Amino acid sequence: MASENEIINVIKLVKKASKGFQNTALAEVASVPQNAFQVLVSCIISLRTKDEVTAAASKRLFDVAHTPEKIARMDWKSIGLLIKPSNYWKTKAKRIKEIARQINEMGYVPDTMDELLKFKGVGRKTANIVLVYGHGKKYHIPVDTHVHRIPNRLGWIDTKTPEKTEVALESIIPRRYWSDFNDLFVSFGQNICKPVSPKCDECSVSKYCRYYKTVYTKKNTLL
Ligand code: SF4
Repeated sequence: MASENEIINVIKLVKKASKGFQNTALAEVASVPQNAFQVLVSCIISLRTKDEVTAAASKRLFDVAHTPEKIARMDWKSIGLLIKPSNYWKTKAKRIKEIARQINEMGYVPDTMDELLKFKGVGRKTANIVLVYGHGKKYHIPVDTHVHRIPNRLGWIDTKTPEKTEVALESIIPRRYWSDFNDLFVSFGQNICKPVSPKCDECSVSKYCRYYKTVYTKKNTLL
């Protein structure tokens, strides 16, 4: 189990390494004043879709309609054609229309996990992103595939699901790092600690990493 000091050191090194990388889709979302509704819609578009496709698809949609009222008035096919080629664009278009309709009726974008999870197609990762980036609530850690994988490789946690990772990370990451954690580790995961063939030779945190000390070093010694 890594100590708090070690975890803080790694977070700082990851932050330093991430400075040279292209912004993640979330960083782009956070850099433009958007409302929580747009954050929610962008997040739905982003599921299983590359950052650059998400950013372009969100822009095309919001250039035509950016409020719940306007999107609720569109038919799902028109929404779909704007967010294409995002993966599963038909399903996403129907969900976006329905969520827009519900939010338009409610008159607000929920700012609690429980309420957000009631929308069809919204899971904990999306809800946490809306809370952090849409409502400015700092004390949430959105867990996607990178945030799930990297702390497990580092040896900080041993979890099988993103939900368990969220709980485990909340117990070991100092709260001041929570809101930036997703963006930092997504960027690091896209550029260095990739899902397949992580670039361990270029990694500034290898000396702290369980995967490096076990799997990677062993594999390379055998070569
Ligand atoms: Fe990921 Fe390799 Fe760095 Fe460990 S050493 S964090 S596995 S890139």
